[in-house]
Amino acid sequence: MGQADEQNFYYANTPRTEQYPALAGEQRFDACIVGGGLTGISAGLHLAERGMRVALLEAKHLGYGGSGRSGGQTIFGYACEQATLEKAVGAGDARRLWDFIVEGMDLQRAFIAKHAIDCDYTPGHMIVGLKRRHDVGLRAEVEHLRQRYDYHSLRFIERDELRTIVDSDRYTSGIHDSNGGHLHPYRYTRGLGRAAERAGVTIFEDSWATRLEVAQHAGADNIVHTAQGTVRAKHLLVAGGALLGRLIPSLQSKLIDIGTYIAVTQPLGEERARSLITNNAAVADMNWILDYFRRSSDHRLLFGGRVSYSGIDPFDSARILRQRMATVFPQLDEARVEYAWGGFIDITLNRAPHFGRLGPNAFYMQGLAGHGMVLSTIAGKIASEVMGGNAERFDLYAKIPHARFPGGTYFRRPALVLAMLWFRILDLL
Ligand SMILES: Cc1cc2nc3c(=O)[nH]c(=O)nc-3n(C[C@H](O)[C@H](O)[C@H](O)COP(=O)(O)OP(=O)(O)OC[C@H]3O[C@@H](n4cnc5c(N)ncnc54)[C@H](O)[C@@H]3O)c2cc1C
Repeated sequence: MGQADEQNFYYANTPRTEQYPALAGEQRFDACIVGGGLTGISAGLHLAERGMRVALLEAKHLGYGGSGRSGGQTIFGYACEQATLEKAVGAGDARRLWDFIVEGMDLQRAFIAKHAIDCDYTPGHMIVGLKRRHDVGLRAEVEHLRQRYDYHSLRFIERDELRTIVDSDRYTSGIHDSNGGHLHPYRYTRGLGRAAERAGVTIFEDSWATRLEVAQHAGADNIVHTAQGTVRAKHLLVAGGALLGRLIPSLQSKLIDIGTYIAVTQPLGEERARSLITNNAAVADMNWILDYFRRSSDHRLLFGGRVSYSGIDPFDSARILRQRMATVFPQLDEARVEYAWGGFIDITLNRAPHFGRLGPNAFYMQGLAGHGMVLSTIAGKIASEVMGGNAERFDLYAKIPHARFPGGTYFRRPALVLAMLWFRILDLL
């Protein structure tokens, strides 16, 4: 799928002032990170703060992946439900995994404040339902998270009140999380990149890792090759997200990349933008194939949704998202769409994150799915812990079991298309 970079709203309003060189020749570091998204950058920053010499290799430019093209919604929890984690690792460890995310939400705000990252962070996130089944589920979720997880920032919202917040008659109820929010993801990513560089991380852009030699005993170096250079490092983290491709074939079988899209309207004017979402929260609906939207700081509407499973870009995202947007906000029927782009999210079969080891000092983190804005931030910290010798928190993730996608290399996409057709039908029921 072409990622339509020239139409990415975030790239258009964020001048890339800092340029990082490509890797050249053989260089030695304590740690090497593959992937310049939020996971890799957060890991690099934390490792540098521990005094390690870190190289970060990014195939294109920092924020080229989901981190620089996402909806920017900072959401509690994981893409899978807590019940999935409870089943996979038991109630106690599911609780710990939950607490990491809550820590991640705090860490994200702390990063923004400490490094003065100008990324329009705005508190408030809402999940909205479209039918009675959703209303029941949302009400139960608030109670479950309050009682089992001590998460007290959620508030259930009845239809009548919701109608005064989101100016659409599509939604039947909602929950508001005062601990969630939204931000400009590309500015957050680039800002964190600058903080990592200041902390001592050596960043290489246009440096695609084409081959890895993973050390199989603790005393040896891991070696990462790019077209023009090599990094030797005791520690290795692979954090290539949905764009990692075939670098590590054994990882690919447990992950699938799904295309998702965002469109941005023309500036609507402050009053009109305000009237759409009066509390300025980010909003995501409860459907499997969901709509998600929020206001931008310059009074536009960012509207995301739809998905593509085929691995290619078959559709005109601006036109299709405009239609979706008009279903939610018919009053925007005349509004022009000025930007539209797509990107890939990396999901596992159970939608839980997939972290593990490639060798004694080599780790991977993938499968952050549609919750990576917060999870990446804390995942990077947890990567630095395991590389610093404390595997406790990393191993909680590593013990989540993951199955391969059915259908093998050739048939897993058709199998997924069928499965998603089923979910689309569920959304209609
Ligand atoms: C359109 C869209 C909307 C989204 N909306 C939201 C949202 O609202 N909220 C939310 O929480 N999440 C959202 N997500 C998901 C979120 O963006 C990701 O989960 C998160 O950014 C993952 O971060 P990451 O660092 O793990 O991966 P990425 O940000 O994808 O970074 C990985 C980087 O690794 C690089 N790379 C890959 N392979 C190599 C290699 N071999 N050598 C060197 N570099 C390599 C890539 O170029 C990329 O820059 C969205 C994603 C998309 C695409």
